Amino acid sequence: MKVGRLAGPGRLVVEESAAPRAGPGEIVVTLAACGVCGTDLEKLRGRYRTAGRIGHEPVGRIEQVGDGVAQLTVGERVFVHHHVPCYACEVCARGDTTFCAEYARTNIDPGGFAESFRVPRENVERGAVLALDPSIDWDRGALFEPAGCAVTALRRVGFTPGNRLFVTGLGPVGVLYARVARALGASWVGGAEISPARRERAARHGFDLVVDPADADQALRAVGTSTGGKLADVGVAATGAPAAIGLAYRATRRGGTLNLFGLPEPTSRLDIDLQEMYLSGVRVVPTYATTEADVATVQRLALAGTLDLSDIVTHRRPVAELGEAFDLARDAETSLKVLVTGPAYAG
Ligand SMILES: [Zn+2]
Ligand SMILES: [Zn+2]
Repeated sequence: MKVGRLAGPGRLVVEESAAPRAGPGEIVVTLAACGVCGTDLEKLRGRYRTAGRIGHEPVGRIEQVGDGVAQLTVGERVFVHHHVPCYACEVCARGDTTFCAEYARTNIDPGGFAESFRVPRENVERGAVLALDPSIDWDRGALFEPAGCAVTALRRVGFTPGNRLFVTGLGPVGVLYARVARALGASWVGGAEISPARRERAARHGFDLVVDPADADQALRAVGTSTGGKLADVGVAATGAPAAIGLAYRATRRGGTLNLFGLPEPTSRLDIDLQEMYLSGVRVVPTYATTEADVATVQRLALAGTLDLSDIVTHRRPVAELGEAFDLARDAETSLKVLVTGPAYAG
């Protein structure tokens, strides 16, 4: 089978490798599709301080079921969560499961850009394998992980129906935040994006306001006008660029919440007036990744018809063309969401 992996900073390779076998308690899944995430691009650049495994948004068909796995069957269409928390430590007990030290240590093998992959026992046992409803096609299923990240974030910031959301960075994640916020009853959704093509696309995606952040003061005035001066209850930085975080912060109302989601560069700094921050009462809540329960919520909202996952995937490339998939994903003027597809995609 073909496997795409990182061979060091800037080095993406596709190799032939032996197909994995399911040990006791494990399963093996044939890949249908796995989205290229911004963090995969950052790992390739060598700018992300985590293990170098790539591809974490996979959907596919179960090909092997190991001894002792009772609840899953060969042929089932599934979404697989790559990380699982331990559910035993104090961090997990407090509900901060994506920050559990065990969480990022667990992973599928060899990753989501492989024609088939092994799902370890702990992932299987802790509910990381979610059966896809027959009405959810592979393209929608491949958005469950990034959409789950938005569900996790909005749950952690206490987003409630009627809230206003402003998001900076309208790549796939920014658009999914807007879609999830709508599904949860947002009364107003605005966004900022530097790419003209992505701004134009977002305007078609149901945003109440889309601004160019190049002139932050002007962007902020537009948010003020569009919200009747109230600004956003929740500001989201879906990109880690300090200017985008600064704009999301300034677009958040007094006493509101700023959610940091996009990955900042290592050692990057935010230059803000701390007295203004003190007086604004804005809470800053970083969120990272998602949980099995929040991904199940994504499927529930999609099946209820409130969460629209259509029109986000723009390109698909097979594992053999992984390099081209990454190039497309990096090209904001051309793509929104790029999927890497495997043998199960056609079925
Ligand atoms: Zn992702
Ligand atoms: Zn834990």
